[in-house]
Amino acid sequence: MSSVNTAIQLITREQATTMAGGAAASTCSPALARGPWDYDLAEALAGVPAYGPGASSADAAPASTPRQGQLPEEYKLASDAELDARIRAAKAALGDRAVVLGHFYQRDEVIEYADFVGDSFQLANAALTRPDAEAIIFCGVHFMAETADILSRPDQAVILPNLAAGCSMADMADIDSVTECWEQLEEVFGTEPDAEGRVPVIPVTYMNSSAALKGFCGQRGGIVCTSSNAATVLEWAFERGQRVLFFPDQHLGRNTAKAMGVPLEQMPMWNPRKDLGGNDEQRLLDSRVILWHGFCSVHKRFNVGQIEKARAEFPGVQVIVHPECPMEVVDAADSAGSTDFIKKAIAAATEPTTFAIGTEINMVNRLAAEYPQHTIFCLDPVICPCSTMYRIHPGYLAWVLEALVRGEVINRITVQEDVAAPAKVALERMLAARP
Ligand code: SF4
Repeated sequence: MSSVNTAIQLITREQATTMAGGAAASTCSPALARGPWDYDLAEALAGVPAYGPGASSADAAPASTPRQGQLPEEYKLASDAELDARIRAAKAALGDRAVVLGHFYQRDEVIEYADFVGDSFQLANAALTRPDAEAIIFCGVHFMAETADILSRPDQAVILPNLAAGCSMADMADIDSVTECWEQLEEVFGTEPDAEGRVPVIPVTYMNSSAALKGFCGQRGGIVCTSSNAATVLEWAFERGQRVLFFPDQHLGRNTAKAMGVPLEQMPMWNPRKDLGGNDEQRLLDSRVILWHGFCSVHKRFNVGQIEKARAEFPGVQVIVHPECPMEVVDAADSAGSTDFIKKAIAAATEPTTFAIGTEINMVNRLAAEYPQHTIFCLDPVICPCSTMYRIHPGYLAWVLEALVRGEVINRITVQEDVAAPAKVALERMLAARP
């Protein structure tokens, strides 16, 4: 099976291509066929950042979003074969001094150089197994590089090959808006614990958030969660608090709390642009989980109609979706879980099975290639990868690796100690939380 990027090139050249399941493929943005440096330049000219083509393209990027300067021409003009040779030569020259991490949602053309492939937390931990690495090159997005920096040694440099590789979901909750929310909640709830010693509210942040928000949680008795351990973390929080403020992903919060038996009417949404998040005081007082108004535009593309179509066309199909999908989609699926859950579910199937998967297309296509005995396809018929992962291209990887060979560190991500220390506390609470 060709890579997602090759498929997009074929579609934009109007050559016929088909997806698993036989459907004719189309892409949400022909601009995905271009080099990400076009977007670095467009942002520089416009003076405003954007996420680039793909699923998050319609999301507004905050003015503070990091921007990427111009990639040197030699990397833009290099052929795929030349970049391949240069990346391999630089990696060979660096040896154990550098480790390349690749997120599940990253393009195949980058993943082929990764020493480890996984989700954001798996990758941050994988880097810890390479103590000789002076440089950790994170082919993912900004919050992932921050987490790796928090967990790595101070003398290890974490590098994000393209600084514009952010995350639209993480950007939907910024430290100022969350602090403002917290102050309003303290006015409504007070700060005194109840008779059982539970504080009024515990902040819980998804891994997909800035280091500043992880630090915010560390300083206020809160915790971090991943999509694998969100239920365990919510249980931890309910033992210590009367309710939870969950950010930034409303869907992961809602899907997890609903599965734990929390009624929907006790899960108000917090809209940071409205007073009291758009709620009245009683609704907040009656709440168990306050959901931040954030979402992932990749997972928001999945809908119940796609599941119905898959079931009609492939009787017996197993539908597995990520919990960042809307609640109706999770409810209509056969199962929902993290990227690791999805991988393990497919690996566990002993008979040839048809799987319709609701998560990012690069990962789905790799699973399809890895398990040819099964039929595996993405629920979304339109090829629409994560627009921020797209910002990493082999050209940027070659650029940062060759700089390291020369002794230069480019695009280092550093979390200040006053943020990193409390963020680490919140991460350590997560690691200590047990089902
Ligand atoms: S898939 Fe969604 S949550 Fe993950 S990096 Fe992309 S925008 Fe962020």
